[in-house]
Amino acid sequence: MNVLVINCGSSSLKYQLIDSQTEAVLAKGLCERIGIDGRLVYEKAGCDKEVTEAAMPTHKQAIQLVLDALVNPTTGAIADLTAIDAVGHRVVHGGEKFATSTVLTEEVINVIEECNDLAPLHNPANLIGIRACQELMPNVPMVAVFDTAFHQTMPEIAYMYGLPYEYYEKYSVRRYGFHGTSHSYVSKRAADILGKDYSELKTIVCHLGNGASICAVNCGKSVDTSMGLTPLEGLIMGTRSGDVDPSILDFIAQKENLTLSEVMNVLNKKSGVEGISGVSSDFRDLAAAAKEGNHRAELAIDAFAYRVVKYIGAYAAAMNGVDAICFTAGLGENDAATRAKILANLSYLGIAVDEEANNVRGKEIVISTPDSKVAVLTIPTNEELAICRETVALV
Ligand code: AMP
Repeated sequence: MNVLVINCGSSSLKYQLIDSQTEAVLAKGLCERIGIDGRLVYEKAGCDKEVTEAAMPTHKQAIQLVLDALVNPTTGAIADLTAIDAVGHRVVHGGEKFATSTVLTEEVINVIEECNDLAPLHNPANLIGIRACQELMPNVPMVAVFDTAFHQTMPEIAYMYGLPYEYYEKYSVRRYGFHGTSHSYVSKRAADILGKDYSELKTIVCHLGNGASICAVNCGKSVDTSMGLTPLEGLIMGTRSGDVDPSILDFIAQKENLTLSEVMNVLNKKSGVEGISGVSSDFRDLAAAAKEGNHRAELAIDAFAYRVVKYIGAYAAAMNGVDAICFTAGLGENDAATRAKILANLSYLGIAVDEEANNVRGKEIVISTPDSKVAVLTIPTNEELAICRETVALV
């Protein structure tokens, strides 16, 4: 069965065509600058990447270009569109309505729409992608896979904010968590790699990318996670502040003469390690600057690592223990120095690091020593494959 996985943003769209039997990626790429000018990146397995400047005023036209590329007689990956058996859509926010992936029907789409105000930047874009695919492939079954669904197992004590309860009742204000597809995939892989029963393992997954979150997975269930109502809470991220004293919003609004939404924009787009360092949101740039003696770049890396350490400690406490800690996503998979910095503060858990293994990049590997009390692993995440598997299971 061939599954087209779609991750649709407001002006971009990532896609992968996966053969679910072999789990091989047949083709992948992205559409960028949708509604602006338009660029299609297409990469068939085993071939070079092709980049085409192509007008794509709407998402429907962008997806049409993807489909044309997939069936192109010379460079395509499939003979015709009947070879696409299902489409799996990443949807960011499923609110409390979706605890699992769901086959898309009109009714389901309406419920996703009801979650729009919880993720105004993401859900409307996801829905545009769903609509466009439905128009172009009306008879192909489609599935929505939610970033929030995996975290719906969190207990009330973990998801409730210390706010008037009526805000939860009236507006569904609570912690939801994100990156659920990744946390679920990585925690399951950890159990497989360690040869342990997933339903008996206490795992902490550190998804450290430009957006970053940590998840406590107790016996296969998410029991706490660092992102909240929105993906702004928790760790210090590339450009997002993560946890701050809420009073800062009003304080800065007054001092800088900004509206609340302008302050929110600062917290989302101008904060995090970029805000601290004034250098970049990318840890490669920060490491280079720190090496040249830039104190703020070094501070940004250290403050980031410190908060990861604090969350790991909190989640080990929340689960009354931890068997495995996993690192994933751009930084988690590739940045040995930051991993080492984080792990150096966890010796109290009985963690011992195998330095050679920690220096291996982008590969599934156990990076703790055999006598370490907690197993530590680097596991490349694969959200597209997880979406493909969910889609196949449902259609
Ligand atoms: P993601 O959002 O998962 O794509 O992660 C992107 C981020 O991962 C980048 O902004 C970098 O901060 C980080 N990253 C990727 N590759 C490396 C690397 N080789 N060394 C350090 N950080 C990296």
